[in-house]
Amino acid sequence: MSDCLFCKIIAGEIPSDKVYEDENVYAFRDIAPQAPTHILVIPKEHVASAADITEENSALVAKCFEAIAKIAGSEKLDGGFRVISNCGGDAGQTVRHLHFHILAGKKMSEKMV
Ligand code: AMP
Ligand code: ZN
Repeated sequence: MSDCLFCKIIAGEIPSDKVYEDENVYAFRDIAPQAPTHILVIPKEHVASAADITEENSALVAKCFEAIAKIAGSEKLDGGFRVISNCGGDAGQTVRHLHFHILAGKKMSEKMV
């Protein structure tokens, strides 16, 4: 999508601090990190949010989680990590391209909200 920030990052039109890339997935460091390690994992195909996952495109989610496991290894997230996907306004989704936040490097709250 031409007006999507994350599609522009995938295309290299906007710079990013790349952590991982393969045929289906791109990952880069969040510009405003909320933990010592804060990485965004996105499918290369534009999907707006978790609410837009269907039988036809759900393999993209599996590809993202395969990448997350690889990144956890390469970033040595041995102490654990949290994966979050905000979906829609109440959850605070600001970029309408499906993404998974990997947060790590500190002891996180037992509460999720
Ligand atoms: P969300 O609020 O769940 O939609 O997450 C969007 C995330 O994208 C936020 O954590 C932002 O800090 C991050 N972000 C926005 N613009 C950029 C950018 N140009 N490079 C890296 N991360 C970004
Ligand atoms: Zn997009």
